[in-house]
Amino acid sequence: MSILALSGGVGGAKLALGLSRVLPQADLTIVANTGDDFEHLGLSISPDIDTLVYTLSGLANPELGWGRRDETWNFMETLTTLGGATWFRLGDRDLAMHVERTHRLRAGETLTEITDDVRRRLGIGPRILPMTDGRMRTRVHASTGWLDFQDYFVRRRCEPVVHELMFEGDAQPQPEFLALLADPALTAVVICPSNPFISVEPILSLPGVRDALHACRAPIVAVSPIIAGRAVKGPTAKMMTELGLDPSARAVAEWYGELLDAYIVDHADAADMDGLHPRITVTKTLMLTLEDREALARVVLDAAASVR
Ligand code: GDP
Repeated sequence: MSILALSGGVGGAKLALGLSRVLPQADLTIVANTGDDFEHLGLSISPDIDTLVYTLSGLANPELGWGRRDETWNFMETLTTLGGATWFRLGDRDLAMHVERTHRLRAGETLTEITDDVRRRLGIGPRILPMTDGRMRTRVHASTGWLDFQDYFVRRRCEPVVHELMFEGDAQPQPEFLALLADPALTAVVICPSNPFISVEPILSLPGVRDALHACRAPIVAVSPIIAGRAVKGPTAKMMTELGLDPSARAVAEWYGELLDAYIVDHADAADMDGLHPRITVTKTLMLTLEDREALARVVLDAAASVR
């Protein structure tokens, strides 16, 4: 079996962890959004890759929902006393990741190589591929003008009203990602329950990716990040309203459109799926426990098998 999962950070990593536990490790490849990546304090930061790496290695911080567990904050406290920028919080352990990545990028390694080395050192089985080794940056057109993504997301806590998004740069998709989509042995593509606009769309908008997905023989299965009109975490529902969409599981399926062969929604949304073209599976999609993550992963794989 060969499964390709497209993921952002928190929501995507939950399902990716479930998939990694119900599949043989070598059967899963995860493509991570890098539209959120940015440079801060001279460091190259890749938030979605790090969330995946920390989640799949068991190092994620369960209280914060981002960063590492058992974190200390000496760097941040010292930076504060020095009058440095403190709007983006970097824990001491997390900082080592960014320092090492930055150093290796400057020495000429690709983000793919660095991520692969880190995941092996941390004992992660599945491959984690950045969507690109090039530069593509999500920008947000808000009421206050165009904002860099982390300025919108972290510094302004997603408060500005979003009018439009753009993905800036001429990055090419990571070559192994495209090769996997063209591989006749690919069993399924899973679009994780990530934010469709700022986590999945950057991946889909890379040159050739949509065409490769349309041409791909494997079924494409998405899980709704919206449950009963609400996002579990983050601005997905707020953003949908601001972009003129209904904040619903149905509207997410309509947004993905013809791309989907199967769509997984929560029991709470079952009644709103009439007339949609992908095959609908209704299940519990809220992942609170490890068992929830594994159970949803199995439902996703069954749904893919049923449309194959
Ligand atoms: P980010 O890059 O860290 O914002 O992470 P993602 O885009 O991957 O995840 C954000 C999305 O995950 C939000 O739309 C949430 O509603 C969704 N999400 C988080 N936890 C769950 C869950 O347990 N079940 C489902 N269905 N969606 C979830």
